[in-house]
Amino acid sequence: MPISESMVQDIVQEVMAKMQIADAPAGKHGIFTDMNEAIEAAKASQKIVRKMSLDQREKIITCIRRKTKENAEILARMGVDETGMGNVGDKILKHHLVADKTPGTEDLSTTAWSGDRGLTLIEMGPFGVIGAITPCTNPSETILCNTIGMLAGGNTVVFNPHPAAIKTSIYAINLLNEASLEAGGPDNIAVTVEKPTLETSNIMMKHKDIPLIAATGGPGVVTAVLSSGKRGIGAGAGNPPAVVDETADVRKAAQDIVNGCTFDNNLPCIAEKEIVAVASITDELMHYLVSENDCYLASKEEQDKLTAVVLAGGKLNRKCVGRDARTLLSMIGVNAPANIRCIVFEGPKEHPLIATELMMPILGVVRAKDFDDAVEQAVWLEHGNRHSAHIHSKNIDNITKYAKAIDTAILVKNAPSYAALGFGGEGYCTFTIASRTGEGLTSASTFTKRRRCVMADSLCIR
Ligand code: NAD
Repeated sequence: MPISESMVQDIVQEVMAKMQIADAPAGKHGIFTDMNEAIEAAKASQKIVRKMSLDQREKIITCIRRKTKENAEILARMGVDETGMGNVGDKILKHHLVADKTPGTEDLSTTAWSGDRGLTLIEMGPFGVIGAITPCTNPSETILCNTIGMLAGGNTVVFNPHPAAIKTSIYAINLLNEASLEAGGPDNIAVTVEKPTLETSNIMMKHKDIPLIAATGGPGVVTAVLSSGKRGIGAGAGNPPAVVDETADVRKAAQDIVNGCTFDNNLPCIAEKEIVAVASITDELMHYLVSENDCYLASKEEQDKLTAVVLAGGKLNRKCVGRDARTLLSMIGVNAPANIRCIVFEGPKEHPLIATELMMPILGVVRAKDFDDAVEQAVWLEHGNRHSAHIHSKNIDNITKYAKAIDTAILVKNAPSYAALGFGGEGYCTFTIASRTGEGLTSASTFTKRRRCVMADSLCIR
């Protein structure tokens, strides 16, 4: 067979990728000083991934799952130490969830039509090299979860992680490449730069070899990605309300809501951020929150002091995000008992500690005069993010009405919010919930292109 120029180029790319494997110093796989070089490396690696069988991709993913579990505690501790946010125990659980429940290649399904005029398939093919921007709230969880899905789809990935979580992110990226090498795959299936900045992010977003960008973070980054001129997957902010109606098991609702709200100190974007309760059960709910669920009832004066600290100058104080309830109370001079997990108070929906997405265990409770009023207030509090909402109710008509009105990517009924991630609920896990752009809970298929493959007048054997 004659050797074409493109075949020679392919061989050169492959050899270059293998040389990178040999050259990369230990602990530095996938880490570059220059964004353009990082993208080149991911591109070379994608050429190799592209030629791999699904079985080979799956072998790498199995190795990633094992390494994620083996390193869950290290990653959890690094994340807490570096960012000062969240807690180690819950972060370990989150890494296990990523390892066990992030879909792999089984997520890629084929659609087929066959008939007199032949056989047509829709196959899910890779985009190539995907650009991904990740948050400091779930840094390694997002990187590991994104890479499993993107690689399953046949892609490699360039990360521009949050600078406040870069050490943890680098550790995770190194781990991903070690897993690939161990399973016989290439180095640089996931890459990043040592010092991610807005400039490196811009280089990535504008690069000709990046056809798709997945942004996980607040409104700023999602807007930036959607303005890039590239296809963007926007996993943006939320402010999930938990509605409790008069038909709910109020005692269980209190327990579920506090468990969901305090998970990793309220960092997950899906976590309960406030409660809207119908008036007839509000007092009962407050009773269970305080007497059975380790909640601290903040006085008006304490609410004011908390507002001044948490929203200093009207801006969310990063030093409060992801802190536990006792630390937050100590910031306003309250020495709370050791069992305290959450701060609660009753207030109007406009209260700044209720209306703002805080990402800390502070739960304002809004009293609604009836269910319709509860729905109206909850929809207002969700701010049109269409991200996540929760409800405790045994009335199917009420649940349906709420689901239609709030129109979120996630709606958990009668369980803690984390049931939406497959933790105590059915379904797979993701840490990138594309609320803004509508893909919802992302998985391998989200990171693929639909490609129509047509055979006319043959292969129909019906
Ligand atoms: P953030 O918006 O401060 O940062 C997220 C990432 O975007 C970081 O890597 C940051 O460096 C980058 N970034 C920010 N502005 C940018 C811009 N203009 N251009 C390019 N990059 C930019 O968010 P965070 O504090 O790290 O995370 C918390 C936020 O993320 C919350 O609002 C939370 O709801 C949201 N979040 C959403 C999801 C989801 O799946 N929808 C998951 C986790 C977090």
